Amino acid sequence: MIGYQENRPMATTTRTRSSAASSPVIEPDEAGGPLAVTPTISIVIPLYNEEGSIPSLWEQLDKAIAHYGKPAEVIIVDDGSKDRSFELLKAIAAEDPRLTDIQFRRNFGQTAAFAAGFAQAKGDVVITMDADLQNDPMDIPLLMAKVDEGYDIVSGWRKDRQDRYLDRKLPSMLANRMISNVTDVQLHDYGCSLKAYRREVLQHVHLYGELHRFIPALASQVGGSVTEVPVNHRARQYGKSKYNISRTIRVMLDLINVWFLGTYSTRPIHVFGTLGLISAGVGILFGLYLTFVKLALGESIGNRPLLLLAVLLVVIGVQLITMGLLGEMITRTYYESQDKPIYVVREIVNNRKHS
Ligand code: UDP
Ligand code: MG
Repeated sequence: MIGYQENRPMATTTRTRSSAASSPVIEPDEAGGPLAVTPTISIVIPLYNEEGSIPSLWEQLDKAIAHYGKPAEVIIVDDGSKDRSFELLKAIAAEDPRLTDIQFRRNFGQTAAFAAGFAQAKGDVVITMDADLQNDPMDIPLLMAKVDEGYDIVSGWRKDRQDRYLDRKLPSMLANRMISNVTDVQLHDYGCSLKAYRREVLQHVHLYGELHRFIPALASQVGGSVTEVPVNHRARQYGKSKYNISRTIRVMLDLINVWFLGTYSTRPIHVFGTLGLISAGVGILFGLYLTFVKLALGESIGNRPLLLLAVLLVVIGVQLITMGLLGEMITRTYYESQDKPIYVVREIVNNRKHS
């Protein structure tokens, strides 16, 4: 059964950071000159061949930011568009300092575009959304209300999704159930781009391949609290979708990846070793039985299929255990070569006056 479960956040009073709802942070610029305002929210939008949507996208963002009423920046990452998208974006950025455009040299994919936007973002909270107007920027205050309650990740849920049923909504529903069960982060809509993240949690999330759909699960693995809110969803007006049904298989493979790295990345011997011991153990039992048959009963075992199976299981078992040991060595290289801790600290408290 999949239910909507909330991972309750820590009491907000224990947090060290200022709430996203607080007034904008004022800090001197690098030259020590005039004061610059740090945005409260950074809106990150990956964009690929969406020239038709850009004028209304900017108009809607402008309205939504005015409606939200707090300092905001918009970072649009042009993922190697081949149409006039970047020209249009450049013209807007020349007039409006709230917009930053990043242009990729080629199409690197939506995950890379998110990663580039996150690296550029300055706000306490990062909001992600699509460029094709399917998400409604007017929903930003809904997400921010949950962030202000203390959640680290707020996921939009396209409750009334405006896409085709058979090739979009149905596979997405099955994928969401499976991802929720495997990662234990219960969300109805991993695929919705409209989401809000506290930036300090995102700093611990490393994105590869097409893992952007799994950011809530990855953020939860480093201790972020997750919730969801129903948001508006609209049919695509301009251009066409960049994805097709083939992504379902990639999502399944990514799920195995996220599950494995989340659970066993610091102890690969446990998963490979367990499978290896079971396999080799069963193989040895079969072998002992065949030895008994041969020695005690005097029967020939050379033509028994069980002999082949016993040998196969023992060989596979030894290989799995060896793979686990190699994994352990790779784990050490990964963590120790970068001085990377195997934990994430939320806060350290002590009352010493001098260090
Ligand atoms: N997108 C991107 N790079 C890509 C594919 C898509 O930046 O390689 C952007 C696209 O412009 C849109 C968002 O990612 O802003 C979601 O893509 P799309 O609307 O095609 O996906 P769907 O809503 O159909 O799942
Ligand atoms: Mg879309």
